[in-house]
Amino acid sequence: MKIDLHTHSYYSDGMLSPTELLRRAIAQKIDILALTDHDTLLGVEEIQQAAFNQPIRVIPGLEISCQWREQTIHMIGLNVDINNLSLKKKLAEVSDMRRHRAENIMRKLMKFGVPGLDENVSRSVRGVYGRLHISRYLVEKGYASSHGQAFKRFLSRGKVGYQPTQWMDLEEAVQLIRHAKGISVIAHPRRYDFTMKKLASLLEVFKSHGGDAVEVATTAQNKSDQQLIAGVAKQLDLALSIGSDFHEPCGYNELGKASFLVNTEGMKRVADLL
Ligand code: AMP
Ligand code: MN
Ligand code: MN
Ligand code: MN
Repeated sequence: MKIDLHTHSYYSDGMLSPTELLRRAIAQKIDILALTDHDTLLGVEEIQQAAFNQPIRVIPGLEISCQWREQTIHMIGLNVDINNLSLKKKLAEVSDMRRHRAENIMRKLMKFGVPGLDENVSRSVRGVYGRLHISRYLVEKGYASSHGQAFKRFLSRGKVGYQPTQWMDLEEAVQLIRHAKGISVIAHPRRYDFTMKKLASLLEVFKSHGGDAVEVATTAQNKSDQQLIAGVAKQLDLALSIGSDFHEPCGYNELGKASFLVNTEGMKRVADLL
């Protein structure tokens, strides 16, 4: 069974429409696919319609930006009720906040000497604004040779285009997902630049708030990372999830690419809870 529970469309910072994403997933022989755009559910109805009568199961989801100990954490919500009012209300606020944040970032970068940002970026955004939209323009115009470089030089903490953001607390994100009857998953745990000890504390706090799972298999999470995370997850009785974090067709990532490498026999898997 091929499963991918972490993907993006052009309603956040992905490049494909939900329909194109679905077609690609079918071509990749995915059995279960979750659409998990950043802080929005805008693409869910389209992908559900596109999946009608197709040999694939679609899970409505999202990836919530939240914070814990002043660090940004990404939390996936799976199988959420897309009509849940408190979730919808909060996402509308976050969407406004993301637009203001992007405007501030672009103002800083234009002052620094990057012309034409706002009209180009605004044209590329269909749902919520993300830093990747700005990074794409910086790479296209030669200010950076890659997204890695654009983030490092311009967009990360302390750099000329950095704009501090107050995301919701980790606990609020868990509660929002719970109230919308979804399953909460800590995304790409090795990307936070935490020691294993700090990561274990994060997962412990997450569990104590009612969190459900952690991504054990995701892009650039190698076998030893997976082993460490599976070990902590087992201790805390957290389920395991798999997701590629696909944003666009490219050389190094593909839908369904992340799969379990380590032996997770006997452990709870998110796919079995859906
Ligand atoms: P935001 O949610 O607006 O803060 O932007 C975070 C998103 O930017 C992530 O979900 C990634 O898609 C992208 N991103 C962050 N850092 C990098 C990087 N070094 N290389 C490529 N994409 C990145
Ligand atoms: Mn992204
Ligand atoms: Mn993420
Ligand atoms: Mn993601």
